[in-house]
Amino acid sequence: MHDLIYNHISARIPGTEEFLLNPFGLLYEEMCASSLIKWTSKANSAVGADWPAGLNYTFNLAGFVIHGAIHEAKPDIHCVIHTHSLAGMAVASLKKGVLPMTQTAMRFSRIAYHDYEGVVLEMDERRRLLENLGDCEVMLLRNHGTLAVGKTVGDGVQQHIYRLERACARSCSRSPPMTKSCCPRRR
Ligand SMILES: [Zn+2]
Repeated sequence: MHDLIYNHISARIPGTEEFLLNPFGLLYEEMCASSLIKWTSKANSAVGADWPAGLNYTFNLAGFVIHGAIHEAKPDIHCVIHTHSLAGMAVASLKKGVLPMTQTAMRFSRIAYHDYEGVVLEMDERRRLLENLGDCEVMLLRNHGTLAVGKTVGDGVQQHIYRLERACARSCSRSPPMTKSCCPRRR
C-alpha cells in the first residue's frame, strides 16, 4: 500500500484537538513515536522532533491540508490514512470507481469520491474534501489515491483502508475493463 515517503497517516491524541502526523522524508518502517509531528489544529502550529543538523524532516503540506481538515471537522474520527497504491490510483481513475464485485467491496454502504484539483496544497480545497467525504468511511480521490477514516486506528487501517485496497485490487484486475477511465479536467 505504501508509496515510499509520499503517503500519510494521522491519529488524534485522545481528548485533545491535537493529532500526530508522519514526517515527510521517512519511510513507514523508519518512523518511531518520537519522529511524529504533533499538530494543534486550532493554533495551526506543529511541533516536530529535534532532528540532528541536516535532518530537518518536516511535514508534508498535502498531508496537513487533508488530515487537518478531517481532524478539525470530525472530533469522533481518530485515524485518517491516505495511500497511493497502484490499485487505488487505478480505480480512482475509473469513472465507475469501485465495482461491487467482491465481499470486501460490498461491505461499504457508500464510497465517497472527490474530483482531482491538483496536488492538495490549498486550504480552500478542505471544504470540498469534507463535503464529498460526508459520513463515509472511505473515499477515492480521483486520479490520486484512496483515503479512509476510523474512530480508532484499527478501524481506519484494518476495517476500512485494507478492505478498500482489496476491493480496488479486484476491481482493476477485471479484464477486459468494465468501465471507462476519467482524466482530470483542465483548469
Ligand atoms: Zn496523496
